[in-house]
Order: sequence, then structure tokens, then C-alpha cells
Amino acid sequence: MSIKVFNTMTRKKEDFVPRDAGKVGMYICGPTVYNFIHVGNARTYLSFDIIYRYLRYKGYAVTYVRNLTDVDDKIINKAREEGVSPEEIAERFIEGYWDDVKSMGLAEPTIEPKATEHIGEMIEIIERLIEKGHAYVVDGDVYFELDSFAEYGKLSHRSLDDMRAGERVEIDPRKRHPMDFALWKTAKPGEPAWDSPWGQGRPGWHIECTAMSLKYLGVNFDIHGGGRDLIFPHHENEVAQTEGYTGQPFAKYWLHGGMVNIGDEKMAKSVGNIVLVRELLQGTNANVLRLLALGTHYRSPIDFSPDKLVEAEAAYERFLNARRRIREALEAPSVTALAEKKALMDGLSADLKGAQEKFIESMDDDFNSAAAMAALFELVKEVNTFIEAYGQMTMDARELLEKVDALLVVLSGAVGLDLALPEAGDLADKLPDDVYRLASEVLAGAIDGMSKAELLDKILERRVEARKGKDWALADKIRDGLASAGIEIEDTPLGFRWKLKV
Ligand code: AMP
Ligand code: ZN
Repeated sequence: MSIKVFNTMTRKKEDFVPRDAGKVGMYICGPTVYNFIHVGNARTYLSFDIIYRYLRYKGYAVTYVRNLTDVDDKIINKAREEGVSPEEIAERFIEGYWDDVKSMGLAEPTIEPKATEHIGEMIEIIERLIEKGHAYVVDGDVYFELDSFAEYGKLSHRSLDDMRAGERVEIDPRKRHPMDFALWKTAKPGEPAWDSPWGQGRPGWHIECTAMSLKYLGVNFDIHGGGRDLIFPHHENEVAQTEGYTGQPFAKYWLHGGMVNIGDEKMAKSVGNIVLVRELLQGTNANVLRLLALGTHYRSPIDFSPDKLVEAEAAYERFLNARRRIREALEAPSVTALAEKKALMDGLSADLKGAQEKFIESMDDDFNSAAAMAALFELVKEVNTFIEAYGQMTMDARELLEKVDALLVVLSGAVGLDLALPEAGDLADKLPDDVYRLASEVLAGAIDGMSKAELLDKILERRVEARKGKDWALADKIRDGLASAGIEIEDTPLGFRWKLKV
């Protein structure tokens, strides 16, 4: 079965047929680098990471472009606030962003172009838009003329009149239409500026994405995406200027992700309700964050709350526990096949097949990861029941369990979830004596006579409990206490693994 995607442009679920058979070109609007990314941004990048990985799992050769907007008013304002250069701000937050997406376990895009490295391409497009009568110059600024593009509004499904009524646009007498948008802006003294036919200046935000997507993916590439807050005006403007420039459709499928909200409000710096990814990942691991995204269809909103995180943590543990139980069952000695247990085997075989089909079917259906994960959880439930009911394993049963385990790992991996089990590691002997001190501080009850390794286990357990009970102060105290004893807790990829700092 082929993949179906919901296209914002047509408001329909369509068969996904790439421009070039077997290949997919995909452009996702990346961050404007003036702040660390928050959980809302993270969700959008995760959604497209999941889509990117799944397309590759299906065998497509995907060229994934995710840009960096490293010149923008917001960067300039932040630089002014701090009394540093805009370049310094951009550099700092590009580094920060790279750290964050790495710790989130996002696959690297094929190309990650910076706007400032494509100014020449932007100028060429703007020149051509002026020649074609789609843009005009006023005092060193260049504007796109909305009235020159009859289809303006086709992506956001709004008419110009609706927009004017809704947006309360400031009237600028230099513009031909109040909603004409800037392609090029004259630089004020001290602002980043490039030479252009219209004097020193810098590009507008929208033209950046047109230049970078066309350069790396060509005309009418397959998937253009971002959060749904980008549909208007950013993507609507991209469509107008790109199609005005090329005379051809810009992208085949427009995919937009739902917002992360807190209560009734979108998570946004301007609202003041943001949770930074780097803060979140102090207390939880990247797989939990990914499970939070996977558990909701990418187009639906997520109402973010600590409870949601606890749920996702529990879901992740459920996966790992199933894998542990399978492993234990496989380690036990096997017995000869017993006829009366065949029904159990047949049942689990059918569940295995069913889960795989349901997973693929769901992901093919506009990347419905929530239904796909539900299929895996169903399999987890069935395998747990099977192990309990079956008793001592037969050779056949072992083979089947291995298949179940492999399927869980492979399908989770297809959407970027890492189910690797923490390895025991034999570092216990090298533990520092500080563990005794920390144990006496954070563990209630008798700890005398326990080994350092046992105490460390108890301390780590205490931290899990503290986090479940939302006792963040205690959880942090334990993490810090361990850190000063030279023990690092790695929450990121593998649950509660610890290691000694070298
Ligand atoms: P920005 O830096 O604001 O342009 O946002 C970068 C990306 O994050 C865009 O794709 C936005 O659509 C997305 N985004 C921003 N806020 C949220 C949110 N609260 N929930 C989901 N995605 C968001
Ligand atoms: Zn963009």
C-alpha cells in the first residue's frame, strides 16, 4: 500500500507520489537562531524527523533540507539587548540548537543551509521577480506585490479581504497593497548588510526559504513542512514569490504539524510559557520526549503537562520491561515442545503479524504514529501474557520471542525510538566512597552493610521515585550529588545508565 499524506494545499489526504520515482525531496523550515529551542519547536522537528526516518524505512532516498535562519530582526534585536554583534548571537544559538537536536536524537538532515550563505541566490530571485512585475523597489526596500499573484491565499485558504479584516495591517503609504511583504530590507547603520542592486541591505525571512529550497531540491519538490503557525504568512508568501518566480508549482505536498500548547495557549517565548529542550532533557531522556511526540498524530495539538511526561516515561519503561522479560525467558533452559501450548504459539504468531501490519498501515496513513505505537503496545501486552502463560520455553517459543523482540526494535527504530537495554557494566568496584555519604543523605532506613553497588542502585531508584512524585528538588540533589562523586547519569539514550567520569 502506498503512503497517503494530508496536503494543506488541497485539504485532502492524497496518495504520495514523489516527483522522481524512489526519491523524496523534503524541506522543513528550521529555527531563527536567537534563543534555545523549546518543547514546541522540538515537537515540530521531531514530527518531521519521524517522517524522514519512516520514508527512508520505506526505501525512499530522501534529501532532507532543514535550514538555519541566521539573519533576522529577532536576532538583531537580541544582539542590541545584549550589546553584542548579531553574528555572535547567531553563532551561539546555532551551537545551542545543534547540541539540543543531537541530544534529542534527531537524524542529521542531508543539508543544513544557512540563509547568510545564500544571499546571492536570493538577490537573483528578487531581481527576476522585479523584472516579471511581481515586485517593486521603494527607497532601497523591495516588496512583493500581492495583486500580481492572483492565487494568493490558496495555501491558507483565505481571501485577501479576510486577511485584511483579520490581521489589522499597519498602513505604510510606500506599499501598493498594505499586505505586500518585504523581499529585501535596507540596512540601518550597524545592522548586518550585503551589497545589492538596491543598496546595502538584507533579505526578508520568506525569500530565504524560497532560495534555499529551490537550490537544493529544484522546482516542485515533494514535501514542504513546518508547524502550522507557519502556514500564514510565511508559507503563503513563499508560495507567492516562488511560483511568481518559476511559473510552476512550488511543492507537491504541504505538511503542517500541530502546536504544543499549555492550557489554551501555544507554547511561545512571547507568551512566556516555554520549557526549553535542554531543561527538559535534564530530567528525562530523549526517547521519552520522542514517545510524547509519537503518541499523538503529528497534525493534532499536544497539551503539554508534567503528567504527559510521566505517561511517556511509563510507556518507555513498558517497552524496555517487555524486552527484559523476553531476554529472561530466552536465558532460561528450554524444554521439548508441548502440544497443548501450540494454541499460545499460534496466538502470538498472529499478534506479531497483526502488529507489523497495523504499524505499517498506520504510518502509511498520513504518518499516524499514535495508531502505530498502539499496535506495538498491543504486542507488548500480548508477549507479556504469552511469557506468563507459557512457562518454560520450548525451542519454537524461543524463536518466536526472538522475532517479537526484533520486530519491536526494528519498528521502533523506523520512527527513531531506541529500545536498547542499559548494559550492566562492571564498574561497581571502582565506585568512589562518596556513595556512602550520598546514600546516608538521601536514603531512608538501614543501609549498613550494603555494598557501594547496592547503594548506588538504591540511590538511582530513589531518583526515579522522586521524579515520579515530582520531587524535582530531591531528583536534582541526587543527580548533583552523584555528579560531584564523579558518577554521571546518562538519561539520554538508555534509561538509567550511569558511568564514571574519566
Ligand atoms: P520559529 O523559530 O518560531 O520560527 O519556530 C521554529 C519551528 O517551530 C517552526 O516550524 C514552528 O512552526 C515551530 N513551532 C513554534 N512554536 C511551536 C509550538 N508551540 N508547537 C509546535 N511547533 C512550534
Ligand atoms: Zn521557511
